[in-house]
Amino acid sequence: MTETIAAAGLSTAAASFVRRTHQLFIDGEWRPAADGATFPVYNPSTSTEVARAAQAGPSDVDAAVKAARRALSEGPWATMTAAYRSVVMNRLANLLEENADEFAEIEALDNGKPLVYAKAVDIAACIDELRYFAGWPTKLVGETAFAGENDSLYYSLKQPVGVCALIVPWNYPLLMGMWKIAPALAAGCTIVLKPAEQTPLAALRFAELAVEAGVPAGVLNVLTGDGATGSALVDHPGVQKIAFTGSTAVGREIGAKAGRALKRVTLELGGKSPNIILPDADLEAAIAGSYSAIYFNTGQSCNAGSRLFVPAKHYDEVMAGLSEMAHATTPLPGLHPDSTMGPVVSREQFDTVNRYIASGIDEGAELVAGGIGEDPDHGWFIKPTLFSSTDDSITVAREEIFGPVLVASPYDDIDDVIARANATEYGLVAGLWTRDVASAHKIAAKLEAGTVYVNRWAQFGPHVPFGGVKSSGIGREHGSPAVEAYLEHKSVLIDLS
Ligand code: NAP
Ligand code: MG
Repeated sequence: MTETIAAAGLSTAAASFVRRTHQLFIDGEWRPAADGATFPVYNPSTSTEVARAAQAGPSDVDAAVKAARRALSEGPWATMTAAYRSVVMNRLANLLEENADEFAEIEALDNGKPLVYAKAVDIAACIDELRYFAGWPTKLVGETAFAGENDSLYYSLKQPVGVCALIVPWNYPLLMGMWKIAPALAAGCTIVLKPAEQTPLAALRFAELAVEAGVPAGVLNVLTGDGATGSALVDHPGVQKIAFTGSTAVGREIGAKAGRALKRVTLELGGKSPNIILPDADLEAAIAGSYSAIYFNTGQSCNAGSRLFVPAKHYDEVMAGLSEMAHATTPLPGLHPDSTMGPVVSREQFDTVNRYIASGIDEGAELVAGGIGEDPDHGWFIKPTLFSSTDDSITVAREEIFGPVLVASPYDDIDDVIARANATEYGLVAGLWTRDVASAHKIAAKLEAGTVYVNRWAQFGPHVPFGGVKSSGIGREHGSPAVEAYLEHKSVLIDLS
């Protein structure tokens, strides 16, 4: 394993972290799983094992939830002033900034994404997230009024919802966690974080920074493990709120369990997002933007623009432009200095995406670029794959693939294309390209999505709410809705008569 780490091209700091014995972080301490179980961590760029992580079982889940409960009601976190909570969060942001290179390398190794994007997108956004939410603790105030015949005084308290289970996927490993950690800490909650089994490393390194920043024991616990770990966490009666990002199938299961137990829940789920080029669009910008809308992060983005609709009169030009860009891209290891596109995250994902590509060919779509990935023993690489199809009912045009596969289709009529864009169970994001401001406003209002991009794709901000409609989820992350999702509103009434 040591040889494969050295060969991956990591700096000394990152390599020495990856080589450590990785344990669970519970109550401010590192410990192995109670039953000693571990699981392998792979480098998707080489298909080799680079580390092992501890596999948390039910008794570890119980210990972490109990530690989070104690930290919530006893000890320094329970009595810490809002202003000092901000100080601790800002320290975390500063430490992450100081160690940004190492974190970017860890993400590039573990997920396979290009180092340059790991740093400029994932880690930079984590820092922004912490700094933005560090401003919130001191602004969480309630309201006051008279009630009854003006003989009662009403006031409200905003209190932390309690112990939060944060369950996240592997596509932006630390960032998907930070979208939840930052508002949860701002609200005064305590946390049990469950990273994806494919990408556990950055969360473990982040727990080390939490100790350095002075986050009290039990406030942030990290349990590495698989779906069974996540499921045990969801079921634990000591958890008050679940924040989940992942697949719609698992989201439905978690939502159903949360409903039965009446736990608070927010769900950020899948998408099959439509991207519409209007006849008057700046085609050069639309082609470049539509390309990165799908292929950025090797198509493994919940907000990927995976269905492209192009005016029939521009179809050949747009397809030629996309195809040229696809042919010019060679997926490379995340830590390779020239990498702009990495492998997919796992062997399982490699097989899944390949099955989808095969189904597209079988069901009659025209393969314009890319195709089935080969040689899975030397990294799970799949080229940017472009299909052309006039049939919206084929599998690749309907199901979320979560890989570098775009299905493009021509259209003639605007109302018709809006109906086609909305004919999906998902509603995470949608995009359109036009020079006409009136069309932009009118169509943005009609698209069934939590976010609409006009003349660009994938802008995020910690203050800009993000989340889905329909089967893409419940609730919003970022901004004031995110903080509210980690707070309970308590009304106090005092008799004045
Ligand atoms: P996933 O299989 O749903 O896993 C997400 C997380 O849930 C992982 O930590 C996973 O553990 C855990 N998990 C699995 N089964 C569970 C269960 N029964 N109970 C509790 N937790 C469980 O999703 P994924 O394959 O990792 O990620 C891809 C999906 O995430 C895509 O569908 C994508 O659209 C969605 N996504 C959505 C957003 C958004 O903001 N809307 C952002 C990113 C990704 P394991 O690691 O063991 O599987
Ligand atoms: Mg990995």
